[in-house]
Amino acid sequence: MRIDYWKKIARLVGREAERQNLPPEQFLDGLRGRPKYIVAAEKIAAERGITSDEVLYEQSERIRKSHYPTELCLDPDEVEEYVAQSGALTREKAEHLASCPFCSEMVDATRPSEEKLQDELQWLTAAAAAKQQRESDEDLAIPEDAHI
Ligand SMILES: [Zn+2]
Repeated sequence: MRIDYWKKIARLVGREAERQNLPPEQFLDGLRGRPKYIVAAEKIAAERGITSDEVLYEQSERIRKSHYPTELCLDPDEVEEYVAQSGALTREKAEHLASCPFCSEMVDATRPSEEKLQDELQWLTAAAAAKQQRESDEDLAIPEDAHI
């Protein structure tokens, strides 16, 4: 049952890639390469019942009005080292991290998590399901007994 499900997704991905005249790996890269900030904005927008443009506008306003980056803000290298635990923060920076919403957001966004992986998997599954829906609308549904 579970294997059939993944076979169907693989088949759908194969078909869509063929339709777009792309190798399947490249088609998948295209899906995964969708800018994460857009995906995140759409998710927030859906939760709040506003458009993703409004979310992006709010976020850009928030950044414009903030004092980020301050002298103590972590640069991307420091964030990566801190998350990978290969570099220790100075006491001053550690105290700053605890009080700066921008720096703590950067650290959270960089930290790998089971939840993020699940989100990505869910998104891929939803994309495949949407394609399947479109195909069945076009009366091209994969028969239950299809052999791949
Ligand atoms: Zn900061």
